[in-house]
Amino acid sequence: MVRMPYAPAHLSALDARWAAVLGRDRSSDGQFVYAVGTTGIYCRPSCPSRRPRRDHVVFFEAAGDAERAGYRACRRCRPAEPPPVDPWVDRIRRACAHLANAEARPSLSTLARHLGGSRYHLQRNFKRLVGITPREYADACRLARVKRGLRAGEAVTGALLDAGYGSASRFYERAAPKLGMPPRTYGRGGAGATIGYVMVASPLGRLLVAATPRGICSIALASSDHELESSLRAEYPAAVLAHASTGALTRWTRQVVDHLAGRLPRLDLPLDIRATSFQWQVWQALSSIPYGETRTYKEVAKTIGRPAAVRAVARACATNPVAVAIPCHRVVASDGRLAGYRWGRRRKQALIAGERRARRARAEARDRMNADEAPDSSSLRPLALDRSVPQVAHPLVPELRRRR
Ligand SMILES: [Zn+2]
Repeated sequence: MVRMPYAPAHLSALDARWAAVLGRDRSSDGQFVYAVGTTGIYCRPSCPSRRPRRDHVVFFEAAGDAERAGYRACRRCRPAEPPPVDPWVDRIRRACAHLANAEARPSLSTLARHLGGSRYHLQRNFKRLVGITPREYADACRLARVKRGLRAGEAVTGALLDAGYGSASRFYERAAPKLGMPPRTYGRGGAGATIGYVMVASPLGRLLVAATPRGICSIALASSDHELESSLRAEYPAAVLAHASTGALTRWTRQVVDHLAGRLPRLDLPLDIRATSFQWQVWQALSSIPYGETRTYKEVAKTIGRPAAVRAVARACATNPVAVAIPCHRVVASDGRLAGYRWGRRRKQALIAGERRARRARAEARDRMNADEAPDSSSLRPLALDRSVPQVAHPLVPELRRRR
């Protein structure tokens, strides 16, 4: 550590810059340069040259400031020129395409040879840009392929081999826990699985809540029970469907009804749904939109780091299996129009309006309480609006969740 005669705030800003220099942090390039008193040279933070001693370093906001102070630009990192484009972006994009389409999972060295560069740098930059390792990415892609194959009715073993697992046992080892249901039952549209469901009245019409023993697999709204039952049957054609009034399902259903009535802003339910890693990312992003607010499809696409994938985001919203538990109704078109809703546009409109009303009412109630002479803090608590939204439990791609 170096003692410096600055106020703490100033000191910490300089410490952050020094840390960026020590870490050769590319993302700090263009934000400042550092100059070395003993050599008279200035560099960008990521310069590969040997790190100078801290007490020889001076920071400048821009290259021009360093030049005016009499320093000259380093010939290695060329700090006076615009920062170079990250050469790994294109390479990693190609790596992703390759992993998504490869029959068998290629080894890291094969992939590195294919793209140019060492396996060490490939691994490191893949993680930096994608957030997960090439191996995890390949696994997520293959899982998506197995699920597509199973849906199409292929034999389980055939689907596994096509997806590059090589043997069923390797698949069970690595991926089966992420599917949510054993693949054989999953493959036949829920055969062998028992799904209990209840249908009740709600402020938005008839409501169906269905669950496996692990959690809720469907929440739907319609104008008749017949409609609800036939869409559940279409989703799980081979599952044993049973009217149920078990404790858990009844309790969850009551929570959904309370939520729809504006009495329970935070819905926290165990879910047993299946998703591609893309759907999962979108659904996670939806779950972070606060109660009573909306976002556009474009904004959600940006949130998950895929700004061009607006249509795919809309598709992921449209295939949400659990109404309100994943709040896809909080996403609207860029021009403010409501856009579609799986359970009807009018219900979407009612949900958004209802949430805004409930939120306003709570805020007003809170203001009234705060205006009281001696508010009792314990009576305030239940009225305080919980802005956080349900954390959705899901077995698929848990590494994506851990990143947050
Ligand atoms: Zn340099």
